[in-house]
Amino acid sequence: MKRILITGAAGFLGSHLCDRFIAEGYYVIGMDNLITGDLKNISHLFKEKNFEFYHHDVTKFVHVPGKLDYILHFASPASPIDYLKIPIQTLKVGAMGTHNLLGLARVKKARILIASTSEVYGDPLIHPQTEDYYGNVNTIGPRGVYDEAKRYQEAITMAYHTFHGLETRIVRIFNTYGPRMRLNDGRVIPAFIGQALRGEDLTVFGDGSQTRSFCYVDDQVEGIFRLLHSDYHLPVNIGNPDEITIKDFAEEIIKLTGTNQKIIYKPLPKDDPMQRQPNIDKAKEILGWESKVGRAEGMRLTYEYFKSLSPEELAKEEHKDFANYIH
Ligand code: NAD
Ligand code: UDP
Repeated sequence: MKRILITGAAGFLGSHLCDRFIAEGYYVIGMDNLITGDLKNISHLFKEKNFEFYHHDVTKFVHVPGKLDYILHFASPASPIDYLKIPIQTLKVGAMGTHNLLGLARVKKARILIASTSEVYGDPLIHPQTEDYYGNVNTIGPRGVYDEAKRYQEAITMAYHTFHGLETRIVRIFNTYGPRMRLNDGRVIPAFIGQALRGEDLTVFGDGSQTRSFCYVDDQVEGIFRLLHSDYHLPVNIGNPDEITIKDFAEEIIKLTGTNQKIIYKPLPKDDPMQRQPNIDKAKEILGWESKVGRAEGMRLTYEYFKSLSPEELAKEEHKDFANYIH
């Protein structure tokens, strides 16, 4: 039986990856310090004999007994609100956390896939973004802590590949959504749905002309699964190229939820990328992958999930208390 370590297991993407690898017959070791994740995302797996969970901060030395065939490194705050609140943790998990996991992969002779992001392209000057674009990133801006952590993560991963011959994979994930996103993580989809469900106006930042391209989680997981098992070590974009402005997207949410609320405009956060769309030619060619779930279907499934949350969960507006985690 193949054994895989998944960091960030209690988070949105990590928990879906745990589900997928369990379903594929792997022995899955989930690891998370719960800083932005929640055990409820994986509690259904605790009954599985092929699943175990380590409550551990990967910026500290990582020890896993026994053999490991694969590592998926997904631990990292991922929403702009989270990484603004815990900037040092974000840098540490991208830098020291990645270093620890690369070291572990080397000792175990495991193949490691790291979760990079479209943020490595910054506020992109070429459009759609291809993997050979070097990006336009403000190192000292508010998003720099995340973007540069991820760029360093790619650099050290490539160094382990070239210097130590480690088997590495790098996925550049574009905005992905679905059930188990944290309602209050500030990302636009939970933000808009939460507002609609609570009967609040939808907050569009700036004039809403900035664009994003949203990928449903099942498509993302399929792309990651294929990349892990491919023999390709350079970065691959995984995302859905269907691009929309944030204003048009807010209008879609108003229709989807049937809310009577309106759009209100708030200032655009500094360095908010104005456009984002993945070029997925590489994923098509190398992995035979492309996104399949359209926004209408993906958003319907996501809305069902948020609607099923209890009124108490829905009313919770406070962000996670990060104070206990900062060191
Ligand atoms: P998330 O916040 O739901 O999950 C991240 C998980 O990592 C959380 O469970 C958190 O507790 C855990 N974590 C953070 N720091 C840790 C540490 N030091 N030690 C152990 N665990 C730690 O976010 P997500 O959307 O699931 O993102 C997962 C990964 O995918 C991240 O690396 C993120 O950068 C990347 N990514 C996500 C998207 C997206 O659209 N969802 C886009 C690009 C990249
Ligand atoms: N956004 C918005 N209203 C919100 C939350 C986000 O208009 O309540 C915008 C944000 O400014 C950005 C886009 O939605 O242009 C996507 O934001 P998100 O935080 O989801 O992810 P990003 O792609 O910026 O990391």
